[in-house]
Amino acid sequence: MAAPGKKDYYEILGVGRGASADEIKKAYRKLTRKYHPDANPGDAEAEKKYKEINEANEVLSDPKKRAQYDQFGYVGDMPPGGDFSGSGFGGADFGDLFGDLFGSAFGGAGRRSADPNAPRRGHDLEYTMQISLEDAYRGITKKIEVPRLETCPRCGGSGAEPGTKIETCPTCGGRGQVQQTVNTPFGQMSQVTACPTCHGKGKVIKTHCSECRGQGRVQRQHSVDVKIPAGIDTGIRLRVSSHGEAGINGGPSGDLFLLIEVKPDRRFQRKGDDLNTSVDILYPQAALGCDVRIETFDGFEKLDIPRGTQPGSRLRIKGRGMPRLRGRGTGDMNILVRVGISKNPSAKERELLEQIAKEMKIPVKDK
Ligand SMILES: [Zn+2]
Ligand SMILES: [Zn+2]
Repeated sequence: MAAPGKKDYYEILGVGRGASADEIKKAYRKLTRKYHPDANPGDAEAEKKYKEINEANEVLSDPKKRAQYDQFGYVGDMPPGGDFSGSGFGGADFGDLFGDLFGSAFGGAGRRSADPNAPRRGHDLEYTMQISLEDAYRGITKKIEVPRLETCPRCGGSGAEPGTKIETCPTCGGRGQVQQTVNTPFGQMSQVTACPTCHGKGKVIKTHCSECRGQGRVQRQHSVDVKIPAGIDTGIRLRVSSHGEAGINGGPSGDLFLLIEVKPDRRFQRKGDDLNTSVDILYPQAALGCDVRIETFDGFEKLDIPRGTQPGSRLRIKGRGMPRLRGRGTGDMNILVRVGISKNPSAKERELLEQIAKEMKIPVKDK
């Protein structure tokens, strides 16, 4: 179902949502014959219907556009609820009907363009944002600076130097379109295209704004506070609503997306919600057991190493890993136990080790 105020292209063509390309083509050809302006001279209702049919066909006959329409309910960069058939709809009438015969002679770029004076949403922006693992652990509000197009403060987006006038386009008289006569195999046809002087706007700027040179928008460093939730991980995209590029003709701003990249930490390796670290102990500590101190993001934690711990054992401190982004609780801290041997034991240590070897009845080197 299309949202209220939006057109249901399937309904317009009288086909089901699962209609095949062939069914759509057939329905379209049947309807264009019925509602073609030549068959209904002076009938405004038929003309409107005819435009709708073309619009629906343009979307539903193109697999990519159809998929987009099915998913979002509109196609292209129109604002939701926007309309294809503005004054910029131009030469679509003939182009679509005879598209197969004429190729791109009538279609082309101008066909799909919406009214150039219509408000348009600004583009979304995406930047990569690097944060430390500790920031990801705690969550943080960061002030960031991003370059983006903003509405020109000097002209307020009009593109005209303050104090100067925006004049009606002399070429099209403000209509934004011009009529051209084209020769075709069927004789002369008149085609409406966007005015080349004003590009369909109907207005021309006499003196361009000195700050934006008539663009209405300027590139600026934009600073914004971004709240980064605790537990965030690499690859997550944060959306900061309305902090993308400024809209055009008073349209809304786009969104700012921040692709998070968590930098490696020298103390901990992250594994999902868990943190991995290691501890180095010596042979007697592993054999007899001991207490060690393990660094966490919230200070040191005591860890009991049990008697007879083997080299390469993994121990765990519950709840000292990363906070879970969705849902409650935190991961764990996993500790790899590495057992070392003295490289240069003192004479006394050697003597004691020899006694141990004797007790264990294991061969060792003589002195
Ligand atoms: Zn300006
Ligand atoms: Zn013009």
